[in-house]
Amino acid sequence: MAILLVDELTKRYRNGTLANDNLSLAVEPGEVYALLGPNGAGKTTLVRQVLGLLKPTSGRIHVDGVDVVADPKYARRAIGFLPQAQFAMEAIQVGELVYGIARLRGLDAGEARRRTDELLDELDLGPFRGTQLRSASGGIRRLAAFATAVVGHARFLVLDEPTNDVDPVRRQLLWSRLAAFRREGTTVLLVTHNLAEAERVIDRFAIIDHGRILREGTPAALRSLVTDRLRLEVTTTEAFGGAHPALQPDPATPGAYLFDHSDLAAVSAWVQAAHESGELVDFRIGPPTLDDIYTVTVGDPRREAVGAAK
Ligand code: ADP
Repeated sequence: MAILLVDELTKRYRNGTLANDNLSLAVEPGEVYALLGPNGAGKTTLVRQVLGLLKPTSGRIHVDGVDVVADPKYARRAIGFLPQAQFAMEAIQVGELVYGIARLRGLDAGEARRRTDELLDELDLGPFRGTQLRSASGGIRRLAAFATAVVGHARFLVLDEPTNDVDPVRRQLLWSRLAAFRREGTTVLLVTHNLAEAERVIDRFAIIDHGRILREGTPAALRSLVTDRLRLEVTTTEAFGGAHPALQPDPATPGAYLFDHSDLAAVSAWVQAAHESGELVDFRIGPPTLDDIYTVTVGDPRREAVGAAK
């Protein structure tokens, strides 16, 4: 049985915004399932309904087979979650916060202390144990929130953008913790912009836009969508006169482009000429990344056709 079942879910806000549009998905026990999509795609709206914090306009959501639209408290008890919103308790210290939440989730004092120490150590938050939230950086607050989401040994975690604002070194620690959850069989629903980093810990992902799922599958299956493309990354100088028309810019990475295999000869000739004329100081042509699937699906002018085909 799926641990999370979302069936024909529609959410229309009072102001008329259609944030989730007849959306269905299932997350199996032990899966790490990622939701990816541009700002405003409807990811947080979906997450808030799964957590029982927001009522759907129509459709069904089951967690462990329990109808959480009818019983929203079940979802909040069963799921360890990291919301987008920040904490109200600004004066509390990072260590106290994690320990306090562990106790609230039912761990006894010894276990809560052990688990807090373990997590602070694993996320390299030890130096910030005594730091009050109000004087911690955005990234440290985010990591503290992550620690509170995972401290209670929930079997199912819902994490909304856990890596936002987190520095690169601690971001790697966070991904390692997620990889460990996967090995341990914890189910995770993860909202992330960072597919390249997420790739090694996710089992499946869905690309959402305008409240609908455009694509869903394993990283390997979705990679096959971009096998006819190549990726070009360039470092330009002030002399740069603009990219070859066959190059589709990657909106997420300045200086990165996608192009069709069939344009390789033309693009190579252009790169060579631009390099010789001093417009490019560096360039690299390689296979597409997982992020390029996102570019192709959401950033492509043919996107309307993808949506319309459903
Ligand atoms: P994402 O998490 O993918 O960025 P959201 O779920 O936050 O997307 O938002 C989806 C859409 O719903 C957006 O158009 C957003 O402006 C709108 N929206 C979000 N919250 C509300 C709200 N409380 N009232 C009205 N519209 C909202």
